[in-house]
Amino acid sequence: MTGRTVQARDTPGRAPIPQQVIGVLVIGTENIRARYECYRHGCPKRREGPVFGSPAVQAFVAEIKGRHLAAYHGETP
Ligand SMILES: [Zn+2]
Repeated sequence: MTGRTVQARDTPGRAPIPQQVIGVLVIGTENIRARYECYRHGCPKRREGPVFGSPAVQAFVAEIKGRHLAAYHGETP
């Protein structure tokens, strides 16, 4: 190893990316379609859905974030 490159993103104790955008919930016209895309690093399942139809979309929107985080990131909202 020669030289020293300052790699701020490897600094422990500091998140490399601000935890602002962790995913996006996309809802289609008039709530007939929805999907969730996760942007977290190392996510094993980047996409959920899509689901179609108003009842399914409503349920999906209500629970997808918590369910996804619990299932794939070990977090509870
Ligand atoms: Zn994820």
